[in-house]
Amino acid sequence: MTKSNWKQKLIELKNELEALDGEAADARSTVELDQSRVGRLSRMDALQGQAMNNAIAARRRHKLVAIEAALDRLNEDEFGYCVMCGDEIALKRLELDPTVAVCSSCSA
Ligand SMILES: [Zn+2]
Repeated sequence: MTKSNWKQKLIELKNELEALDGEAADARSTVELDQSRVGRLSRMDALQGQAMNNAIAARRRHKLVAIEAALDRLNEDEFGYCVMCGDEIALKRLELDPTVAVCSSCSA
C-alpha cells in the first residue's frame, strides 16, 4: 500500500459514511412526521428507533473524525505509526481499519 492508496481508501470510507449520514437524516425526519398521527405505543417505538438512529449517527460522526485525523497523519507523514509509542502499526491492523492510530500493544 502506498500513501496515495491509503488516502484513496480513507476518502472512499469518508464518502460512504457521508452518504449514509444523509440517508439517516431522511429517516429521522420521517419518524418525526409520523409521530403526530400514531398512538402512544408506536410513538415509543418511534422514539426508541430515533434514539438508536442518533447513536448510530454519533458513531458515524466519531468515525468521520477518525478518518480526518488519519488523513492529517498521512499529510504529516505520520500515518502508519502509533501515536502513543511511535512504533509502526502492523499492516494487517491498518488494512482492517485504516483509521487506527495506535499499535496493538498500545490499544490493549
Ligand atoms: Zn504503540
